[in-house]
Amino acid sequence: MTNQLPIAVIGAGMSGVACARVLHHHNIPFHLIDRGRVVGGRMASRRIRESGTPFDGHITDIGASYFTVQDPDFATVVNSWIDAGTAREWTDTFHVATPAGISGIRTGPMRYSATEGLRSIIEHQAKVIPTEQIQPSTQVESIAVEDKHVVVDGESFSAVAVCVPDPQAKQFLDASLVSTHKLLDQIQWEAVIAVTAVFESGMLPKFDGVFVNDHPVITWIANDGHRRGNEDPVVVAHVHPQLAAQHLADPVGVIPQALDAVLPILGLTEHPQWSSAMRWTFAKPTSARDELCAFDEITHIGFAGDSWAGGPKVEAAWKSGHELGIRLAKWWNQRL
Ligand SMILES: Cc1cc2nc3c(=O)[nH]c(=O)nc-3n(C[C@H](O)[C@H](O)[C@H](O)COP(=O)(O)OP(=O)(O)OC[C@H]3O[C@@H](n4cnc5c(N)ncnc54)[C@H](O)[C@@H]3O)c2cc1C
Repeated sequence: MTNQLPIAVIGAGMSGVACARVLHHHNIPFHLIDRGRVVGGRMASRRIRESGTPFDGHITDIGASYFTVQDPDFATVVNSWIDAGTAREWTDTFHVATPAGISGIRTGPMRYSATEGLRSIIEHQAKVIPTEQIQPSTQVESIAVEDKHVVVDGESFSAVAVCVPDPQAKQFLDASLVSTHKLLDQIQWEAVIAVTAVFESGMLPKFDGVFVNDHPVITWIANDGHRRGNEDPVVVAHVHPQLAAQHLADPVGVIPQALDAVLPILGLTEHPQWSSAMRWTFAKPTSARDELCAFDEITHIGFAGDSWAGGPKVEAAWKSGHELGIRLAKWWNQRL
């Protein structure tokens, strides 16, 4: 009987959608639930709406900046996104700066971006999932285990895949799940505020991104136009986690400090024409478990995300969610 109940996948970011795709592939019934209006999670992109300006319509990455690829299975998936025109190779070279200014360049692995913003990759991934199985704008408030079912906000499921940041999962998991809470307490998370700034056309120097070291205000500056593959003069700077934590109640309030840090590093004197701030209370785990994911065969609750699989990256989220989908499918089929 239990098996006839669907599985609930909570979270439609990279890990939740990767998990859901495996369940879909195995014809296992599931609901993919997210509190957001759209899929994507921290691979978040926003279209700037400022009619009459040259940057009206520009899509900005306001969450993850890019992703890298190491795992051969992930590489195969990424190649399929490239073939579909969704993902693109961005760059392997960024500048490095200190508070005094640019200090050099650093070449590393290829960084991938998306012409339509990173969220479009999750949308592309979710396309195979029938829309009636996706429940957007649905905030999960409680998960408890009752009589071999997992009960999500009063509805019974055979199992649940929790694919949200650990501190957010703790908010809805019943206090009686003591060992689960202990598991989620293992990892600390840090905040980031992403400040978007739009400058006058032609003002930006040539750069793709700048790693900013030893700066109390910012850690990273991305050229969002180059990330999209165009010359739109849009910059996204990430505020240092310690400063971001102090501004969670007022993210916009950190914009002047962030701009005062960005302008000298980029050699700019003119302030931007437009700016905005996006708050990520749980932007990234500060460490991650080596295990790919977890599934408890007693409670029937599983966990995936970027605090697993070596995190804290898009690639880890994919590996973790994909693996949880495989484990759930195996568990489901063994019980038939
Ligand atoms: C500012 C920033 C910069 C980053 N830069 C990079 C980078 O350069 N490279 C890189 O590889 N990674 C980067 N990351 C990390 C990357 O974004 C994550 O590793 C990845 O997107 C995590 O995916 P996920 O599915 O695990 O979690 P998420 O994307 O967070 O998905 C979780 C989903 O759960 C939903 N949810 C939460 N609570 C509930 C609830 N109660 N009910 C219903 N739904 C809920 C959320 O709405 C969300 O959609 C960055 C992240 C941030 C925020």
